[in-house]
Amino acid sequence: MLEVKGIENGVVLDHIKAGKGLEVFHMLKLNKVDTSVVLVMNVSSKDMGKKDIIKIENKVDFDFNILSLIDTNITVNIIKDDKRIEKFKVQVPAEIVGQIQCKNPRCITNFDDYVRPTFHKYAENEKVLEYVCSFCEEITKFEK
Ligand SMILES: [Zn+2]
Repeated sequence: MLEVKGIENGVVLDHIKAGKGLEVFHMLKLNKVDTSVVLVMNVSSKDMGKKDIIKIENKVDFDFNILSLIDTNITVNIIKDDKRIEKFKVQVPAEIVGQIQCKNPRCITNFDDYVRPTFHKYAENEKVLEYVCSFCEEITKFEK
């Protein structure tokens, strides 16, 4: 099996659905951070079959809850001095500001740079999450 060393300080995102790791990578804009980032795909998992894992060194200030739009089962582990000091599941946010785009092409948020796209949670069930745009009331769905 491929060995990937642990990190002394930083974040380990675990239990990412296999194949979703790259989406998580882009959602957190990990291409813009200047610390070490490891994306491991298709790791064997007892309960999931396969999963993806992301390790981010020396940086913990991310908005992890936005990841629930990709996968609500992602686990966040905060590592400090080689020890896990915190472990939690991502929470579905009630409000999303500036992190996703409205899919309505006529929405003001898509052509006015000064208006930050703002969404509120509209509905949630086992299969889908729905957010409503505060400006045009268009509903955006995210499949779980
Ligand atoms: Zn809109």
